[in-house]
Amino acid sequence: MVLLIKVDGDYMNITMMFSITSLFYIIVLNVIYFSKKNVNNRETNIYSTILIAIIFGVLIELAMRIAAPFYNTAPIISDILAKGFLVYTLFWFSLITLYCFLVSFNENKYLIFKKILIIFNIICDIIFMFLPIKYHFPERAIYYTYTLGPAINFLYVCVFLLILLNILFIIINFKKVYHNKKYYPIIITLILYLVAAVIQNRYPELLLNIFIQSFTTFIMYFTIENPDIKHINELNLAKDAAEKANKAKTEFLSNMSHEIRTPLNAIVGFSECMLEQNDLSKETKGFAKDIVDASNNLLEIVNGILDISKIEANKMEIVAKEYNPREVFNSLCKLVKPKLQDKPIEFKYTCCEDLPGVLKGDVAKVKQIILNILTNAAKYTESGQIEFIVNCINRRDTNTCLLYVSVKDTGRGIKKENIDKLFNKFERIDEDRNTTIEGTGLGLAITKSLVEMMGGRINVVSKYGEGSTFRVYLEQEIISMEVPENNVEEIEIDYNGFTNKKILVVDDSLINLKVAQNILKPYNFDLVTVKSGMEALDIAKNQTFDLILMDIMMPKMNGIECLNSLREMPGFNVPVVALTADAIEGTDEKYKSAGFDDYLSKPIDRYLLNKVLRKFLK
Ligand code: ADP
Repeated sequence: MVLLIKVDGDYMNITMMFSITSLFYIIVLNVIYFSKKNVNNRETNIYSTILIAIIFGVLIELAMRIAAPFYNTAPIISDILAKGFLVYTLFWFSLITLYCFLVSFNENKYLIFKKILIIFNIICDIIFMFLPIKYHFPERAIYYTYTLGPAINFLYVCVFLLILLNILFIIINFKKVYHNKKYYPIIITLILYLVAAVIQNRYPELLLNIFIQSFTTFIMYFTIENPDIKHINELNLAKDAAEKANKAKTEFLSNMSHEIRTPLNAIVGFSECMLEQNDLSKETKGFAKDIVDASNNLLEIVNGILDISKIEANKMEIVAKEYNPREVFNSLCKLVKPKLQDKPIEFKYTCCEDLPGVLKGDVAKVKQIILNILTNAAKYTESGQIEFIVNCINRRDTNTCLLYVSVKDTGRGIKKENIDKLFNKFERIDEDRNTTIEGTGLGLAITKSLVEMMGGRINVVSKYGEGSTFRVYLEQEIISMEVPENNVEEIEIDYNGFTNKKILVVDDSLINLKVAQNILKPYNFDLVTVKSGMEALDIAKNQTFDLILMDIMMPKMNGIECLNSLREMPGFNVPVVALTADAIEGTDEKYKSAGFDDYLSKPIDRYLLNKVLRKFLK
């Protein structure tokens, strides 16, 4: 390339070589930088302008070199190029100064400084146009080697002023300079220009301007303006913000859940008490039943939203426990039967003979998954049959049992085009037919997430108008093939057999205490209620109880603190059951590890309460 341009003189060739090299790596840098997605902020905008400007700079300089031998025939071309180069050089220094200002000072003043620099550039450019420019011709040469004269001197003054400004910014921010890598290229530029000034004083033909500028731009890319680093930083910031927002959302949901559950506890509690009273009219009892149903629906919605938010926040955990699968499936049948209402539906349950006696897995989630598809079958079937079939494949080598549960109904069925939408959040298909059926469209989305979390599969086969079959495959660990005795879980409420038992209920809400009193009334306990943890401690010192039911969220002393103080009391060995409306993190495991003997969530489920009372008092 150097040879092709056929110009004489060493300096000319060296300068040309510098320019061509600069052009090459500046183009490469431009391609790399602009092919990446860049962050759109002031710094990157300045850097992008520097990158584009420098291409023009290198091209003008090359054109000057090429036009130099033709100066005598067409001096106007050299004049235009030389003045263009002056305009460019001032512009490049102004960009670096603007960058240095941005790194050093408050972004608010940035726009004012930018305007000052633009005005400064325009005024200087006009002055360049009027100031003469001279060309240095070596002896007997037909080309000039460098430019000089008033226009060049004026550029030196302007650049000198800008360099001084840069130095001033650095001095003002001296303490920041060491830690802020963004200053490094600016300092390197200043040093290189100092060295170049000394060299050019000795060899004025050796033009290093473009070379230094390209070098600076290059370093800037690798030190501060690298889009990848910027992106990672931006992504990290975005991630932090998203995590904070997510945490806030989870906290909000937890609080809302608590707030909604507390009044629901009263609504469900009192309306259930009304149902049990004999002196009420049939109509009033009907209203009470409707209130209970509506509240349970509301509770299901709250639980669904909590589940989805837990799944999305990756907070849902698998808690493996040993369980008797026969007991679980039997209890599911009992739970689903009332949901059939009075519809002419035959419910059939079959379980394979070789189902292991004890399995290990997240039984709460297994229940939730199967209950959801059973409930849907009950909801979306008007007449005919629902078949609940449990099969399994036991593998001795891995000691696992592949549960294979299918729920087949003769309900309305699902259209082919809707099958894919079935597992989407908030998607309720067949909306026009769904108007009378309660639901949020969350059930199957949650079910699918839970199944997948447990490494299982769920699928559906359906014919519109004829019925659907949902199948779930879940792998569980086999603990024992032997069926434990007493495998049928009793879920009938039994109020008898609790004579002479003394119970303490601790809750800061008077209405919740009233609910507890009413729910516990049929048991004929000797019931004591207190409104705070402190009162509970006082009374527990003087009286002996058979069981304590303790609310968790109480002002001044919460349930866990109160429990810890109780446990510190000498000789205290009364079972304490957590009673809480906090359900977002509320696995019973959490409360058990906090020292509680068991856990009941609000609104209080009478069956679960009965189970707990029997466990500790019988
Ligand atoms: P929800 O029942 O709360 O609307 P789901 O996510 O459980 O939400 O179900 C989504 C949709 O799938 C339902 O609205 C219903 O239209 C349809 N669907 C679910 N199960 C069945 C079924 N067994 N038979 C017919 N349609 C069903």
